[in-house]
Amino acid sequence: MSAVGAAAGAGVAVLERYEPVIGIEVHCQLKTASKMFCSCSTEYDGAPPNTHVCPVCLGLPGALPVINRRAVEHVLATGLAIEATNPATTRWDRKNYFYPDLPKGYQISQYDLPLAAHGRLAFETSTGPFTVGIRRAHLEEDTAKLVHVTTADGRTVSLVDFNRSGAPLMEIVTEPDIRTAEQARRYAEELQLLLRAIGVSDADMERGQLRVEANVSLRPRGAETFGTRVEVKNMNSFRSVERAIAFEIERQAAALDAGETLTQDTRGWDDTRGVTYVMRSKEDSQDYRYFPEPDLPPLRLDPAWLAEIRARLPELPAARRARYQAALGLSAYDATVLVNEPRAIELFEALVGAGIEPKRASNWVTGEYLRLLRRFSTADAAWLEPSRLGRELAELIRLQAADQITATNAKEVFEAHFETGQAIAAIIAARGFTKISDEAMLEGTVDQVLAANPSAVADVRAGKPQAIGFLVGQVMKATRGQANAALVGEVLRRRLGGQGG
Ligand code: ADP
Ligand code: MG
Ligand code: ZN
Repeated sequence: MSAVGAAAGAGVAVLERYEPVIGIEVHCQLKTASKMFCSCSTEYDGAPPNTHVCPVCLGLPGALPVINRRAVEHVLATGLAIEATNPATTRWDRKNYFYPDLPKGYQISQYDLPLAAHGRLAFETSTGPFTVGIRRAHLEEDTAKLVHVTTADGRTVSLVDFNRSGAPLMEIVTEPDIRTAEQARRYAEELQLLLRAIGVSDADMERGQLRVEANVSLRPRGAETFGTRVEVKNMNSFRSVERAIAFEIERQAAALDAGETLTQDTRGWDDTRGVTYVMRSKEDSQDYRYFPEPDLPPLRLDPAWLAEIRARLPELPAARRARYQAALGLSAYDATVLVNEPRAIELFEALVGAGIEPKRASNWVTGEYLRLLRRFSTADAAWLEPSRLGRELAELIRLQAADQITATNAKEVFEAHFETGQAIAAIIAARGFTKISDEAMLEGTVDQVLAANPSAVADVRAGKPQAIGFLVGQVMKATRGQANAALVGEVLRRRLGGQGG
């Protein structure tokens, strides 16, 4: 049984006695061309070690940092998107500590004047809407990467790759508002969606672009003060976030029940074993001796600059979901599915822009389109570019709405187009799907079916309505599913009515 399953089972009794308190810290790699304080490129993914470096990001004495404007704009944009406040003036601070991945002996970060503070993020959970307060979002630089390897002669050595050193990093810290593992997972998911929507980060968890840490403590139900918290790291997926927190709640409850005192540890999540383990003890919090960075000037945030950044913000996921429901009449479920996939949004907007009724457009996008997107590796093909695909699909939807092609055939045509890029009209012509609403042709087939099924015809005349269904089915069969079923029914009734007088 998984940790989530185990926690869900045993959790009820635990949750009657204890209230979990959870706060989330997220480190997010910002999408910029160059690093935070130098002009080295951030395109170091897959590059040989130590090829994207300069005196600034190697921490050589005397090298001077320069602020990356785009990185600042990304944090300001995030702040606006989470309804945070911005200080009139901000600055950078040195966070002093020693570690081999930090050659300067300090990290340039922000301490008491973060670029954004007092924000919030609202999202849906299985038990209803929930809002998490966000304490702050600030800008800092990433560290280098340590690589531990075993040499040919069996020694274990640690190598340093400075490519990541000095890359821009945004830290987002919530208030301790979260009460369940699911709320924590949903917060991280919604934050990822938001960061991607505003274009500040690719926020891929598996690639370390979105690193989630959870602070978890328990307090007896009704207590005011928080219990001792544990910080959990190394969760590489949303599922791990939920499982790790669920595990930690159970573990802490068992310890408290046994009369143990919890220590303020940093723990890691072992996804395979489904447990957290002690990484380091954090009994007395480290003193980083923060002080203002003397090599950088304070930064004044011009209101006009902020207004520009606000004007550039796209429609945010929450607003889009709300609009799709209120203005376009979609269900909450459909709106969520669409907004979760940028390509689905684009295709849906293209269809609605082409005059397709929103519910019909949404059905095609959330159904067939997303199914095919998952199934085919052609997903990057030029003909799948949303506005182009939208034009083709709109044509197909119109034919179906006008009863010129059946739903089954339309799906077949769309799949063929998705796979090959062949024009919708060409596929329909090649497969002979164009004549299905040709009444003259249907009358011919209907007459053949009537002649071949005299007993069914007799049943209809005797007033058995099921027999009509049987005859429609025979016509559909004769036309390989291409007949417009409603029209077949009409023709049949007309023919039988005429004959029956
Ligand atoms: P640090 O700087 O050591 O990481 P912070 O005070 O900034 O500590 O808090 C980090 C995170 O932990 C925040 O998200 C905060 O909401 C959360 N937090 C603080 N106290 C608790 C607690 N007792 N239980 C759970 N989470 C907590
Ligand atoms: Mg922390
Ligand atoms: Zn550099």
